Amino acid sequence: MTVLVAGAGPAGLVVAAELALAGVEVTVVDAAPRRFAHPRGFTLSARSLELLDRRGLAERFLAEGPVVPYGMFLPGMGLDFSAMDTDHPYALGIGQNRVEELLEEWLAELGVRVRWGHEVVDFSQDADGVDVVVGEERWRASYLLGCDGSRSIVRKRAGIGFPGVDATSYGLIADVEADFDALATGEVLVLPRPGYVRIVLDEPEPRTGPVELGYVRELLHARLGREVPLGRPLWLSRFSDAARQAESYVRGRVVLAGDSAHVHPPAGAVGVNVALADAMNLGWKLAATVSGRAPDGLLQTYHDERHAVGARVVRTARAQSLLGREDLSPVRELVAELGAAAGTHLAELVTGVDTRYDPRIPGDHPLLGRLAPNLAVEVDGRSTTVAELLRPGRPVLLDEFGGMLIRPDGHVVWVADPETLTAALRTWTGP
Ligand SMILES: Cc1cc2nc3c(=O)[nH]c(=O)nc-3n(C[C@H](O)[C@H](O)[C@H](O)COP(=O)(O)OP(=O)(O)OC[C@H]3O[C@@H](n4cnc5c(N)ncnc54)[C@H](O)[C@@H]3O)c2cc1C
Repeated sequence: MTVLVAGAGPAGLVVAAELALAGVEVTVVDAAPRRFAHPRGFTLSARSLELLDRRGLAERFLAEGPVVPYGMFLPGMGLDFSAMDTDHPYALGIGQNRVEELLEEWLAELGVRVRWGHEVVDFSQDADGVDVVVGEERWRASYLLGCDGSRSIVRKRAGIGFPGVDATSYGLIADVEADFDALATGEVLVLPRPGYVRIVLDEPEPRTGPVELGYVRELLHARLGREVPLGRPLWLSRFSDAARQAESYVRGRVVLAGDSAHVHPPAGAVGVNVALADAMNLGWKLAATVSGRAPDGLLQTYHDERHAVGARVVRTARAQSLLGREDLSPVRELVAELGAAAGTHLAELVTGVDTRYDPRIPGDHPLLGRLAPNLAVEVDGRSTTVAELLRPGRPVLLDEFGGMLIRPDGHVVWVADPETLTAALRTWTGP
């Protein structure tokens, strides 16, 4: 029976590829007729590149855009990525649509094609599987993955609560043809397409319906106190500072990943990266569960680990959004001072480089729970690297550091203690 993935955004594509890599039958559907061709996000973080490296994909992505060793935490407060503990101490500038195209290519190489124009409308689950209504048809799946974005039908129909805070401020994004120098304000970014800029503006009150270019002109005029010529719009959209997180990422045979599991203000620009890390954490665990070789409780560790990370992401993005308020500039200045004193702490927090999962086996080695460093190692007389060994998506047991067990997603779960090796293998790889 197939695993059905609803949604072919970053989360759905990566989790589907991970399942296919493990030899699990997977079907990916997306309600949209085709991929959204415009970039919503623009950056991949150091941790995303490290995870892509573990599947031999980082070079394809790095060939696509410039890398920059810094990012922005708050208006007027940058982050230095160059000293982070990572193989990729920078952010990659790459449009989200291009990220998705490359992921879809990887998925196709693994033999899976996205079925565009197929909407998941409803479902019901029982002990053995899930009956899913896709368009007008009924399909049977072993698991249903809700990778269907922030308004997730899968989350709603599964009855999974989505507690959090309602929006208190609103903004709009306008990707338009305009002269960057004429705008010259902190809220403007240059788009990868020459002659176009991204303008981000606060809205005085909530509005619904499509954003009109005339309204953008009006708000821009109010902000700058002068007229700026705006040409053809590419994409006009709204956002808010609402922040919510699914109370459970796993309910029976329904699993959530990416924006369906968490939404937050766009301040940190981390959504694609968190979706990708959710999917890398989930894929191998679900593959083992579907194949009947998973140790007890393995799938639940996906919720435990990623819900904790998601809560931290939501909290950080809310803090960034709140600190952007005009009247909080003294607090912002203080945070900037503390941030500078804290070395790489904030940079490693927002990029996910500091992610550590509970190894569930006692031990105090500093690598436990962390992403294994990409060491050069020798296996059967052949020189290779940790990343290369992880490429097939299977666990790796090495001699380094007196012995090290690495999960398929690259995280270290056992180091050097002969007393606990059997328990670690049982916990993470099965009997
Ligand atoms: C303006 C803006 C800027 C951003 N900038 C950044 C950035 O710089 N860096 C970053 O990392 N993130 C950024 N993000 C966040 C990022 O876009 C999202 O977090 C990311 O797309 C989430 O991926 P996902 O796979 O969970 O969901 P999505 O990308 O939303 O994909 C969900 C998919 O599910 C499909 N779908 C929906 N309902 C159904 C259904 N019922 N049946 C089948 N399919 C369905 C949709 O068509 C869609 O293709 C930005 C977001 C916005 C809005």
